[in-house]
Amino acid sequence: MIRPVCDLLLENAAEVLTMERPGLAGPRRREDLSELGRMAEASVAISHGAIAWVGPAAQAQQAIELAPGAIRIDARGRVVCPGFIDSHTHLPFAGWRHDEFERRLRGETYQEIAAQGGGIQSSVRATRAATEEELAALVRARLDRLLVQGTTTVEAKSGYGLSTEHELKQLRALARGAAEHPVEVLPTFLGAHEFPPEYRDDRERYVDLLVKEMIPAVARAKLALFADVFCERGVYTTAQARRILEAARDHGLRPRLHADEFAPSGAAELAAEIGALSADHLSAISQQGIEALASSSTIGTLLPGTTFSLRIPPAHARRLIDAGVALALATDFNPGSSAIDSMGIVIGLAGLHLGMQPKEAVVAATINAAFALDRADRIGSILPGKQADLLILDAPDHRHLAYRFGAPLVQVVIKKGKVVAREGRIASA
Ligand SMILES: [Zn+2]
Repeated sequence: MIRPVCDLLLENAAEVLTMERPGLAGPRRREDLSELGRMAEASVAISHGAIAWVGPAAQAQQAIELAPGAIRIDARGRVVCPGFIDSHTHLPFAGWRHDEFERRLRGETYQEIAAQGGGIQSSVRATRAATEEELAALVRARLDRLLVQGTTTVEAKSGYGLSTEHELKQLRALARGAAEHPVEVLPTFLGAHEFPPEYRDDRERYVDLLVKEMIPAVARAKLALFADVFCERGVYTTAQARRILEAARDHGLRPRLHADEFAPSGAAELAAEIGALSADHLSAISQQGIEALASSSTIGTLLPGTTFSLRIPPAHARRLIDAGVALALATDFNPGSSAIDSMGIVIGLAGLHLGMQPKEAVVAATINAAFALDRADRIGSILPGKQADLLILDAPDHRHLAYRFGAPLVQVVIKKGKVVAREGRIASA
């Protein structure tokens, strides 16, 4: 037997969470959502950026060979798990909205603030005013923060430009900020986040612009992989969302959807029908919506940071799980409704705010999130051949992620087989 020659070995972990579920290739549902593929007292060996071997610590010596100069990290008493995958963020924005946060704590609602020119419109003004360089610098700094908190892959949406010029600028800034950064960024075109002020009274004309000009321009410039629509009462109707996402699909952008956040609108049903990769939010999903998602390959992405931050009732995670919806978790990081950028906090909120088990939350933040981004063949689990995106947690058991909610437990971050962050700091190359 030829032993793989490895350049990095994580040894003697108390638990390695492989996320393997033998015999199941698709996203995890129902009881499979609890399957961590847990190996006690195990080691993980990495070769040229990929997982080469995972198994009992006592067998590592026979199973692998260490290359000269290989790095060995003792993970004794700690957890090794896949890097977190944040599958829903609005990362490339300018301008925080801490003033609105304070108003909400005084009792004003998100919708009242939006009606007075705040909300998304205030981020649109700030983002339009920023230069591409300024936005790229903001992106870079935020990716650093994500990385030290254990996020190794992130989806990031435009949607604060709301014109061809500014949406393209926002997506170019995202690409520039992400260039050569260890965090892998998967971009989404969200020109249908809101209606820009100049089209408030002629919404169909803005939908025309999205379909005929913006989507083709984004696709031509190869600035996005996915397209998303904020389908919600008072924003985009399901008919408009269908038209936009079908046009996007014709241009090679995979659809995803902001669905049923404040009121049930049939958006989850639409997501299932058109084969969207994910339907996100779902805090007001109808029974028909749940059934449609459960019988589809569309991932239901829950964003507990948003309902927690808005202090509104969360999604019914248990009903969704019991019905067979494949769930992912994400931060929804944005300057308005969820300024939370930590997947560790989201896993904690999944327990304390949504009633999910820690096991379910970890699966939803890794392998199911990889499915939501159509990357499950490469990331989200610790199996030989997969990309070596891994975390060492300063905890003896994965349940600490939820139990010690908010504690910075991510000790070492490995991306494509390289140690890229340690103890809350970016590792120097
Ligand atoms: Zn969102």
